[in-house]
Amino acid sequence: MESMSFGEVQKYPYVIIYDNSNGNKLHKTNCTFVTEENFNKKVYENRKKNGYYRPIAAIGDINDDTVGPCKVCKPDF
Ligand SMILES: [Zn+2]
Repeated sequence: MESMSFGEVQKYPYVIIYDNSNGNKLHKTNCTFVTEENFNKKVYENRKKNGYYRPIAAIGDINDDTVGPCKVCKPDF
């Protein structure tokens, strides 16, 4: 999970973007916020200091009260 590439994340239907400053949000992986540029910035440049990406195969797998749905892609969560 730690070394997962953006391409691997894209194989999942959903992704949680954990973010210390903006809050933790569930997105569909085709959301406009889920981009390789943002992924590289968060995961590589910032060395995960501000958060990370967690791919999700099914909504039921989330089990995390800190996560809310993205208001743009509106995952069914
Ligand atoms: Zn979204």
